[in-house]
Amino acid sequence: MSQPIVIEKHKSRFKELARAAIPGGGNLDLCLTCSSCVNGCPASGISDMDPRKFLRMVLLGLDEEVVQTPWIWWCSMCQRCKRACPMGVDIGALVFMARQQWSRENTPKGIQKSCDLHLEFGNSTGIHREDWVSLCAELVEETRQQEEDWKDLPAPMDKKGAAYYLNQNAKEPTVEPEEMIPLWKILHEVGIDWTYSSERWDAVNYCMFSGDDRDWETVVRRQAEIVNDLGCKTLINTE
Ligand code: SF4
Ligand code: SF4
Repeated sequence: MSQPIVIEKHKSRFKELARAAIPGGGNLDLCLTCSSCVNGCPASGISDMDPRKFLRMVLLGLDEEVVQTPWIWWCSMCQRCKRACPMGVDIGALVFMARQQWSRENTPKGIQKSCDLHLEFGNSTGIHREDWVSLCAELVEETRQQEEDWKDLPAPMDKKGAAYYLNQNAKEPTVEPEEMIPLWKILHEVGIDWTYSSERWDAVNYCMFSGDDRDWETVVRRQAEIVNDLGCKTLINTE
């Protein structure tokens, strides 16, 4: 008579940590292995991994593999897997927790550097305050002079009491500043009262991807303080 196959059970510290940290326990044990999460995931197949496989590793107690796979850094935190999942399993939250196990020194340099620049300069590409302010002023002045239809185009900076606060992906002023102008035109055309701020204006928060809750929160709080100081009622996050 054949012998049953015995799968060695591992005690999973990571799974218990996740159950305690994710609201509702993350529904981890409800997975049906249906693969809906895999199909829409932009990181599926990279490093021979996908969200379902990652979840199986967590459930099997393969803690070492879970916190060592470089795949977690390919996850974009887009949450498509959670939306597609019939059981509401929050794999993005698991990935975030796995990132938290990595030391700052081992976090991918691009992500960590962008986060560090944001903490130091208020934006992830390290643009100085004066450069940001003068770039916006020059761009809007050029547009006014060259395009008759837009001779009154505003690009307000630190306008107290503006109804809307607009932030901006730092990549645009860094590599393609002219890409900011169409949005200014749209806002002007529809009569939106808006403003940028001269500090902490970046729309992208790379600290959200580094796995460090405190850095993530610091960036969000600092921008919220600016919005409150200006007295704007609504923040338009362009990312
Ligand atoms: S979509 Fe949900 S239930 Fe289906 S395999 Fe993925 S995690 Fe499991
Ligand atoms: S959150 Fe991560 S794992 Fe889920 S679909 Fe997006 S990239 Fe894939």
